[in-house]
Amino acid sequence: MSAIEAKGLRKRFGDTPVLAGVDLTVSPGEVVAVIGPSGSGKSTLLRCLAGLEPLNGGELTIANVTAGGTVPLAKALNGRVGFVFQNFNLFPHKTALRNVIEGPVVVRKADPTQVVAQGLQLLEKVGLGDRANAYPAALSGGQQQRCAIARALAMDPEVILFDEPTSALDPELVGEVLAVIRDLAAEKRTMVIVTHQMDFARDVADRTIFMDGGVIVEQGPSEQLLASPREERTRRFLARSG
Ligand code: ADP
Ligand code: MG
Repeated sequence: MSAIEAKGLRKRFGDTPVLAGVDLTVSPGEVVAVIGPSGSGKSTLLRCLAGLEPLNGGELTIANVTAGGTVPLAKALNGRVGFVFQNFNLFPHKTALRNVIEGPVVVRKADPTQVVAQGLQLLEKVGLGDRANAYPAALSGGQQQRCAIARALAMDPEVILFDEPTSALDPELVGEVLAVIRDLAAEKRTMVIVTHQMDFARDVADRTIFMDGGVIVEQGPSEQLLASPREERTRRFLARSG
């Protein structure tokens, strides 16, 4: 059983096609990197996978939930797909701990006292054990993103989607976030990671996908795709990305 099975995904905004038929299969435990130029549809793909955007065509099953039923996909997934945003999207008026346990409490109706221990454990796991009571504004960008990852983990997701998780960070804070994602890869978490960090993709992702113009142009084992792409468009993009 695949963790993600997408066939011919289509999405347009107004008259503009943004996903023009994307096929994607991800196995449990697999880490997939998605690279491609700005505007190629990477974020839209992730948002469609998470059920945050209605599809205009195609078939999608993710975390054993199939899109297209009467219940919107995001709701049907009930937190089983985690999403880590470029800009963290923490609740500014809630502490780090409260952010982490918000999903279990609000979505899963857990008793807060029951999930505090787990929340603290997750903050510990991402290196924020001592910042549980800090508000997001008091945390660095790297700390906020690590908190956002702990928040995603609190829902015990079957798949975690990362949309450029380090793009909003000062360079010196990138490494601490990548290290957390690396740990999750070592735990065999199923993840799809949109990234501009080619070294990271090479090291951590089993497979790398190159998107351009709303389609997957090329994909393969990360090492191979990044070192010796078959397609001219991929070569040009990688040459530009240094
Ligand atoms: P990427 O993440 O690869 O940079 P996006 O998926 O964000 O690409 O965007 C792909 C295209 O879709 C862009 O042309 C963008 O302007 C357009 N787009 C994305 N989201 C919306 C939206 N909510 N409404 C209208 N156009 C959008
Ligand atoms: Mg994007």
